[in-house]
Amino acid sequence: MVTEDEKAQIRLCMDAMREGIEGFHSRRPQLEMIATVATTLAACRGEDDPPADGEHIAVVEAGTGTGKSFGSLVPALVMARSRGRRLVVSSSTVALQHQYAEKDAPTLQRSIPFGFTFAVAKGRRRYACAAKLAAAAAEAGQREVDLGDEPPAADTSADRRRRTIIIGLAENFDAERWSGDRDELAMPVPDEIWSDLTTDRQGCSGNRCAEFARCPFYAARQRVKEADLVIANHDLVLSAMEVEAGSVLPSPSETIYVFDEAHSLAAKAVEHLSAKHALRGAQEWLRDSIEAVRDAVLAMRLPDSLLQEARSSVERLGAALDGLRQHIHALRAFDERKARRFKSGELPTWVRDAGESAQSAGRALEKTFAALREALLERAPSEGALATRVLSSLGFYVGKLENLLSTWDLMLVQDAADEAPIARWIELHEDTSRGADYLVCAAPISGSDRLRKLLWNRASAVVLMSATLTSCGTFDLFLRQSGLAVFRGLRLLRVESPFDYRSNAKLVIPAMRSDPANADAHTREVVDRLPRLVRTRGTLVLFASAKQMRAVYGQVDEGLRRITLMQGTMPKMEMLARHRAAIDRGDSSVLFGLQSMAEGVDLPRDYCTHLVWVKLPFSVPDSPLEEARREWVESQGRSSFIEITLPETAVRFKQGLGRLLRTTEDQGTATVLDRRLVTKRWGGLLMRGLPDFEVIVEPVRGAPARQRPLPST
Ligand code: SF4
Repeated sequence: MVTEDEKAQIRLCMDAMREGIEGFHSRRPQLEMIATVATTLAACRGEDDPPADGEHIAVVEAGTGTGKSFGSLVPALVMARSRGRRLVVSSSTVALQHQYAEKDAPTLQRSIPFGFTFAVAKGRRRYACAAKLAAAAAEAGQREVDLGDEPPAADTSADRRRRTIIIGLAENFDAERWSGDRDELAMPVPDEIWSDLTTDRQGCSGNRCAEFARCPFYAARQRVKEADLVIANHDLVLSAMEVEAGSVLPSPSETIYVFDEAHSLAAKAVEHLSAKHALRGAQEWLRDSIEAVRDAVLAMRLPDSLLQEARSSVERLGAALDGLRQHIHALRAFDERKARRFKSGELPTWVRDAGESAQSAGRALEKTFAALREALLERAPSEGALATRVLSSLGFYVGKLENLLSTWDLMLVQDAADEAPIARWIELHEDTSRGADYLVCAAPISGSDRLRKLLWNRASAVVLMSATLTSCGTFDLFLRQSGLAVFRGLRLLRVESPFDYRSNAKLVIPAMRSDPANADAHTREVVDRLPRLVRTRGTLVLFASAKQMRAVYGQVDEGLRRITLMQGTMPKMEMLARHRAAIDRGDSSVLFGLQSMAEGVDLPRDYCTHLVWVKLPFSVPDSPLEEARREWVESQGRSSFIEITLPETAVRFKQGLGRLLRTTEDQGTATVLDRRLVTKRWGGLLMRGLPDFEVIVEPVRGAPARQRPLPST
């Protein structure tokens, strides 16, 4: 239960924010959200508590304009403080992470009546490695000296630029004008230079490094350890969930998590649990790794037996991968997506045998790399920069081998009876200059079991929130995909957007003659109708397929094409900037976009007063993983259309419609050029849970236009 003192603290915070933040209003939906978050966090768990039934987890769908970041952070800060827990807020993108760090957290720090500290948690590669930076700067300085004796032609402008950048970074770092954080640089450093100045876990010598005391990554990690609020991202949380020891984040049992944009968490979990490696690519780096081992053995005077062992394992591993590559090459059995999926995840004997040989040789190589790494770490304090350089070079191959072994572990593991199976396939990659290569790929068809075991069951408490968590009016799809469906005690809350949809927005379904299933006829009719639909200044036209988008763009009249910006012809940011500039000048502008424009694009006021969905955005099994997911559902006697396709389509459809109203003053119309919304039985399901639009279904044959209420959820 939330104590009286905690309630009073939350009230004080809200009062202080109303007084201190100009234009801040807390409306009923936000207050509802605050109450649910506080009640959930009051049920936070301790490490030794018995398994919970989800009382410690809140799932909140909060429509645009609710103010969900303050609606979650205020109660979470109060509850974490009073219950002695750490608070981690995680977002899906770096942009949103910046918004929390640069806007929301500082605003709260200034406004609420108690102090708190916050720190941003980022991956190791966002920081310079002090040891590598010092070595690179010394090398660049030496080169400047040597060049005095060489003709100017020996020095290219790219080399000069590289040296200038590295020396400048090292000087600023040494003079403490720069902390080593890449995101704090005023002038961006090109990736090819940055990759030589940073390192990863395998290439780092940790507390045995000569530069450990001024290492930017470990300094940042210390700040994260001491902060009351840690601002992270989903990738970091998911990585930490797998390798808790040594993670930058606090352990789940002492953490209250707030996941923003939680709708993307399940897909990200699958990505994290998946693995793939190229066959010919692996043979190439394996050969190169022997050079790195030889350099390490010679430079550090290590036993020659390490080189012999590495060579023997590399030969065995290379032979296994080569045999597999030749077998696949001879078969040439790929579908139109250039993939060969193993039905129900069952591997043929020739793949299994080759995989087992590769796995066994890879494990032997892993042991040799570990022995080498240990020997290098022992020498790190005395050998300084040389040990760091050798360790970093070896670390690259250690990382590659880890990935190769993860792939084969997933390929060969027996699917657990109580978990969703693993999809396994091989992809053909054709490169005109280098010939064909094959990618061995394995991915769990769902991350739900791992999320449940490693996160939900271990976390002290969790808030998951997003503007779109329901589909077809229920949370079912999200709960299933995220591994939350088994919890009976979850707190589910759906708070409406404070926008007045009924007065300010219409959803129009015109009297289309064509069925989108007949692609050519539908495209012709869309081309015919579009000029009449582009009446207002800012129009966003969303397509379900790139093919149809290009076809419509190619066929619309010249006048419309001149004011249309099509996705794929320029970077998305530039496209949005040009659109806004045209509207600001008082001109009309039309955006043609795909699904990625239906999410996360903010076009308030005149930037989007008309949204057109050309066709319902059906999710299609366009990857071996999606195909395997549907196959698994069907194999259990269930309908993949009802269980996957329809709810996923509902989410996409709703996300697109969410682009229309972005502020309380916005007004607009959404037009759907796909009549299946009203002619098919499942159309009603897609309409469930939509905001309260005024819905106008235009009559097909002279009948008066109907205004229909949305189906109740
Ligand atoms: S501790 Fe690791 S990351 Fe830090 S400077 Fe040393 S090698 Fe680089």
